[in-house]
Amino acid sequence: MSESSMRIETKLVHAGEPLPRIAGAVEMPIFQSATYEYGGEGSYHDVRYLRTNNTPSQLALHAKLAALEGSQAALVTASGMAAISTTLLTVLSAGDHLLAQSCLYGGTHDLLTRDFANFALAVDFIDADRRDGWQAQLRPNTRAIYVEAMTNPLLQVADLNAVVEFARAHGLVSIIDNTFASPINFRPIEAGFDLSIHSATKYLNGHADIVAGAVAGGAELIERIRHKANHLGGSLDPHAAFLLGRGLKTLALRVRYQNDSALRIARFLEGHPAVARVNYAGLETHPRHARARSLFAGFGGVLSFELKGPASGADEFARKVRIPIVAPSLGGVHTLLTRPATTSHAGLAREDRLRLGIGDALLRLSVGIEATEDLLEDFEEALR
Ligand SMILES: *Cc1c(COP(=O)(O)O)cnc(C)c1O
Repeated sequence: MSESSMRIETKLVHAGEPLPRIAGAVEMPIFQSATYEYGGEGSYHDVRYLRTNNTPSQLALHAKLAALEGSQAALVTASGMAAISTTLLTVLSAGDHLLAQSCLYGGTHDLLTRDFANFALAVDFIDADRRDGWQAQLRPNTRAIYVEAMTNPLLQVADLNAVVEFARAHGLVSIIDNTFASPINFRPIEAGFDLSIHSATKYLNGHADIVAGAVAGGAELIERIRHKANHLGGSLDPHAAFLLGRGLKTLALRVRYQNDSALRIARFLEGHPAVARVNYAGLETHPRHARARSLFAGFGGVLSFELKGPASGADEFARKVRIPIVAPSLGGVHTLLTRPATTSHAGLAREDRLRLGIGDALLRLSVGIEATEDLLEDFEEALR
């Protein structure tokens, strides 16, 4: 059986692992070495050094991630933001223009709005839900279009097929942050995107114990991104690479469980009299449920909901629940709860925040792998 014909669960365990096994080791060893003996390499980018992203732990992860995403190549980075910034600074040059989805991850949004101008890069935000307005925002120097699989914290689902078609029609590089879906629920390269980016800190590693990133895509583009990463320096540490490789092996088990658990919790919350609104693409009441169903194999482990009444009720709920930990980040084995108005979106003016639909009493939940029944009982008690 060839590796490419394996199902994703098998690829998670076996793809990219060195053969013959190193000293017979069943698990990929930790290659705690920054540099490697010179083997006649002809260029700077081929010298085997951790920052040139070509050491054994990195190469194994590149091959595994490419197999998972169905891409020609992939690259791991020191963080999700390293993957995002390095990718954008490879695809864009001074004077270029980017179209980006309007409700982005906070770090990405800040990069585009606060740092881009210093690099003479321009950005315009699009309503990624509807294709109608995009053409009017196109400029002669537009080079790329950037979206996310699902937005944070409202779990909106953009018209991703239209993004691919629009990019192809106008010669743009299409880039998606696929962190929230993970390759278990969505494989953007197979859907026609040029580049798929992850904060591997989240689902890919899944255990809230490292920061890492990844980008997958065509071999030529990934090689250009690797060269840029060699210059910018955001390379993954070997111990983090080991943990990422280990965490990845259980990705399918974790994400499918989290899909199911989050859907049950979303249904429970939607039916509860103390809850005003639940945002989860797996609910029939989600405005883009049909679109999400046609795009994704599952709807992920993150949902958000608004309690009736003032924000103090949301804080009280967060204090009363026993299992969820009040902490930022997502996609790990622990259930985490945040109130975006005071954490991820605290930097926004209140009116802007409310206009985006992020109310004071909105809570975001990243469902972990605890027993769903325990979480439901915990929420039931806290809501009472
Ligand atoms: C967390 C996150 C990032 C940033 O990743 P880091 O690993 O923290 O640098 C980017 N995009 C999304 C959607 C995220 O959730």
